[in-house]
Amino acid sequence: MKRNEKKFYKNKLVKVVFLLALVYGGFGNYNQFYLHYGYGNDTFWGEVFRFFLSRYAEYIAVILFGVVVVYFERNQYTRRRILTLMLFMLFLHIGAPFFLSIPEPSYGQNLPFQSTLPSPHAPGTMLFIVFALGAFLIGRRFDCGWNCQCVGFRETVGRPWRETTIKTGTAWKLRHIKWFFFSAMLVYLVLIFTPPTEFSARYFNTFWKTVVAIYFLSAIFIPLTGNRAVCRFICPFGSLYGWMQKISPFVRIRADKEKCVSCLNCEKECDMGIPINTLVHKVGQIKSVECMGCGRCIQICQKGVLRFEDVRDYLWALVRYVKNIFIWGEKRELKEVIGCKQESKDVTKEKKVKHDRLELSDIIFALTLSGTVTLAMIGLALLFQ
Ligand code: SF4
Ligand code: SF4
Ligand code: SF4
Repeated sequence: MKRNEKKFYKNKLVKVVFLLALVYGGFGNYNQFYLHYGYGNDTFWGEVFRFFLSRYAEYIAVILFGVVVVYFERNQYTRRRILTLMLFMLFLHIGAPFFLSIPEPSYGQNLPFQSTLPSPHAPGTMLFIVFALGAFLIGRRFDCGWNCQCVGFRETVGRPWRETTIKTGTAWKLRHIKWFFFSAMLVYLVLIFTPPTEFSARYFNTFWKTVVAIYFLSAIFIPLTGNRAVCRFICPFGSLYGWMQKISPFVRIRADKEKCVSCLNCEKECDMGIPINTLVHKVGQIKSVECMGCGRCIQICQKGVLRFEDVRDYLWALVRYVKNIFIWGEKRELKEVIGCKQESKDVTKEKKVKHDRLELSDIIFALTLSGTVTLAMIGLALLFQ
């Protein structure tokens, strides 16, 4: 069967099914934190019922609808990313808490929901710190778009409404709204490291209830706003990662502006509404808090203008520098080797789409990445108990 991605997502029946899944996934979270419908029944079937009407609802939806999205996705990088997201849901977000239930090390006063692994989005937990450091080294890609359950839900169940993303100049200006939520998270962080008070308890409670309510509402409104509104305008965790990536000397999307023909395909493809073409010509790179590193712009650009750069490029440059000295006896300035992006540029080219169907290599890649990181997270949690 020939796959027609656009036609499929425009189909009314498909949209209704995806919309029902949006409501289901959103409701699971809302039910766990607000309604507690079906809770309090400790029988086997009560447990099963609770499982399907809790936050796990969202993860289940990501896995089920992810299969459809991966099937229709023709871009290899995105397909690998969605596949990895699905496996992270399975291993880290469902498997680890369900089968192991390891308390995640956390710092400061006890959190309102004392976390079991994984809680990367709970300020004060070990993974919260690990993810922020990860964003400094390789950018928001450390979580956003690859492991984050919130965007996992939006990139799979919210997929039919990707094209409705609002990309006006006003929408770009409105991105600053997120700093309000970011500030609220900073207050939270300060409060957990101060002695407990009635105020701090109320604050923590209100913070989480607000996050869950906004999160649920933003899922319901995806058909009107596009699927990444929460990442663009609200998410305080993504703002922190974005800020870490912005101050990082390692992370950026490097652009070869001489090659750019201003076709604007990259901007049409960017779900975060980033004015990529302007940035390419003005500063020769994309170093934006908003960029969540989905790689869509890089893949769509026919001229090969854009490429990712992160700490790994610098580490490989260092390896090349040492190799040059000891194996070839060639001494070049370290600055010159690190500045020389030719080799990494070639590697990026090799990684460009070679096939538009799911391959065994995609599955091996996703399994290896999600499996290794999940085991590393479990190991870290056990180590820092
Ligand atoms: S911005 Fe927030 S919701 Fe979006 S992917 Fe990043 S952490 Fe997840
Ligand atoms: S897709 Fe490539 S060539 Fe077109 S505007 Fe973007 S960077 Fe330039
Ligand atoms: S700039 Fe590129 S990598 Fe960043 S969010 Fe937009 S499309 Fe994704």
